[in-house]
Amino acid sequence: MPELAWIVEDSELQRALASGLEPMAARCERLQTDERSSRLFLEGGATLEARLVVGADGANSFVRRAAGIAAAERDYGQSAVVANFRCEKPHRNTAYQWFRGGLQGGAVLALLPLPGEHVSMVWSLPTREAERLRAAPGAAIAQEVERASKAALGALTLVSEARSIALRRLRAGRLVAPRLALAGDAAHVIHPLAGQGLNLGLQDARVLAEVVNQREPGRDPGDERLLRRYERQRAEPILAMDAVVSGLFALYGVKSSWIGHLRNAGLNLTDRLPVLKNILVRQAMS
Ligand SMILES: Cc1cc2nc3c(=O)[nH]c(=O)nc-3n(C[C@H](O)[C@H](O)[C@H](O)COP(=O)(O)OP(=O)(O)OC[C@H]3O[C@@H](n4cnc5c(N)ncnc54)[C@H](O)[C@@H]3O)c2cc1C
Repeated sequence: MPELAWIVEDSELQRALASGLEPMAARCERLQTDERSSRLFLEGGATLEARLVVGADGANSFVRRAAGIAAAERDYGQSAVVANFRCEKPHRNTAYQWFRGGLQGGAVLALLPLPGEHVSMVWSLPTREAERLRAAPGAAIAQEVERASKAALGALTLVSEARSIALRRLRAGRLVAPRLALAGDAAHVIHPLAGQGLNLGLQDARVLAEVVNQREPGRDPGDERLLRRYERQRAEPILAMDAVVSGLFALYGVKSSWIGHLRNAGLNLTDRLPVLKNILVRQAMS
């Protein structure tokens, strides 16, 4: 296939989305729902009235809390160190990942191609390790990444600041309530090891739009029975992705060497079975 995936920098996405939202972009501070509509009270005094509110406001979703929807949360005990590097060797538009078992159990290093000879790094490490790395001088960070990536891209030079982000898993108990639907990280947060978090949220948006657009004539878009169709359609894909990602995380977190051998044998086998590999590729592209 011509391309397996697109890599878009988060800052570029944010910029494009923010320009589309102006001049409405403002913090929501209160949500009020009654029989006929929902009202959002924004910072600065403005209000928005709508028949349906979509809470796509991230892991700490205000909308989710305001609607009284509980969420199950778990700390992965890891933080992701993110930074950009210039690389000596061409990356050939290839995304690299190294999964570390054994003593470094659960650590995942990803180098993702950016325009020119640049890569974006996401290195998920036990929290203390991540903090140590983030606080190290730029040249030392570059050297560590170079070593861990077996110099696959040659010498690396840090070209951004290094930041660290605490990783956690979250599942909202419900995706819908009267006049309200949750989408994206407001509804589910998964480990970034598979790079599927945003994709899962985009699929939510697509399905929700389909459900609302295909509603019967005269049907209220905020009708909870209608919104349940969205919840039902999304339940299985979200659960499946969460299970795969958490399963991989657990598989690499184990310290036992025989489980490590079994895991490596399983992944090597997957690599040699085109049918299974194609199923996984199709799933990642959907
Ligand atoms: C290190 C790391 C690497 C990742 N890499 C990938 C990857 O390669 N591929 C991938 O698909 N996913 C990846 N993800 C996951 C991805 O970043 C998230 O799934 C995605 O950003 C979620 O998008 P969202 O719009 O649901 O939430 P967010 O990106 O959190 O956006 C929520 C928005 O809501 C706004 N907001 C919050 N509260 C309010 C309020 N009260 N009023 C108004 N606005 C509000 C915020 O300002 C923000 O703009 C990664 C995550 C991490 C941590």
